[in-house]
Amino acid sequence: SKATLFDQNSKVNITFADVAGLDEAKEEVMEVVDFLKNPKKYTALGGKIPKGVLLVGPPGTGKTLLAKAVAGEAGVPFFTMSGSDFVEMFVGVGASRVRDLFKQAREKAPCIIFIDEIDAIGRARGRGGMQGGNDERENTLNQLLVEMDGFSTDKGVILMAATNRPDVLDSALLRPGRFDRQIGIDRPDLKGREAIFKVHLKTIKTDGVTVDPFTLAEMTPGFAGAEIANICNEAALIAARRNQDSVTLADFNYALDKVIGGLEKKNKLIN
Ligand code: ATP
Repeated sequence: SKATLFDQNSKVNITFADVAGLDEAKEEVMEVVDFLKNPKKYTALGGKIPKGVLLVGPPGTGKTLLAKAVAGEAGVPFFTMSGSDFVEMFVGVGASRVRDLFKQAREKAPCIIFIDEIDAIGRARGRGGMQGGNDERENTLNQLLVEMDGFSTDKGVILMAATNRPDVLDSALLRPGRFDRQIGIDRPDLKGREAIFKVHLKTIKTDGVTVDPFTLAEMTPGFAGAEIANICNEAALIAARRNQDSVTLADFNYALDKVIGGLEKKNKLIN
């Protein structure tokens, strides 16, 4: 339902400790955290903080999580909307939603605005697009550009956005003073997966013998964080269904099969 305009979380309890791996990305957004905490320190010296930070990477790798953690670390409200919320909307609605979003954010500054799937509105203009007749999307994009140009970071609003299709973005979005900072978020390597398992195993009661993050990381090449979170949850559910009092490696094996099966089905639907 489109009843809520956007999610606004004034109390974000996600921190960098919840985001495993992604050390370089965390390093880069640290500056944003510091700015949100002490805006005066920066403005006093005339430094320019980026207005927009674009997180680029495949689905489920923790882009939303990282953006939330920035808000959590800085202790500021988090406004979020998905680019796909603007698709198939009546004329003028997309643009007015963008306007409302920025208006509310300005009132709650310092804060973070996060737009997931920004490519849904940020596709290059005048390319027609698959659906044709994309005037409405163009209006929305234009409004976003207007808003970005209209605010200055000393008001304490920082825009973050995520995409896995940076190649289709309108170049106007990437100009200096807009999304002038890009951060790549890759699928985790072995060490990264181990770190992500560690985070998600914290809340799971394992047998403490057969289950260890490194073994699980070795079993899951190519998996993103979202899939790892999913496997941990499935394993716990399987163990509970079997009335066990802890989760074993066998449960993780079943969970792995289930999650891989789900991924294969999804791929079949796409192909
Ligand atoms: P999408 O592009 O599909 O929106 P995303 O990159 O924004 O994906 P998230 O929504 O942040 O991915 O990740 C989904 C969930 O997967 C998170 O809430 C978290 O539970 C888990 N997860 C993903 N990446 C990580 C990570 N690096 N560390 C810990 N958990 C992770």
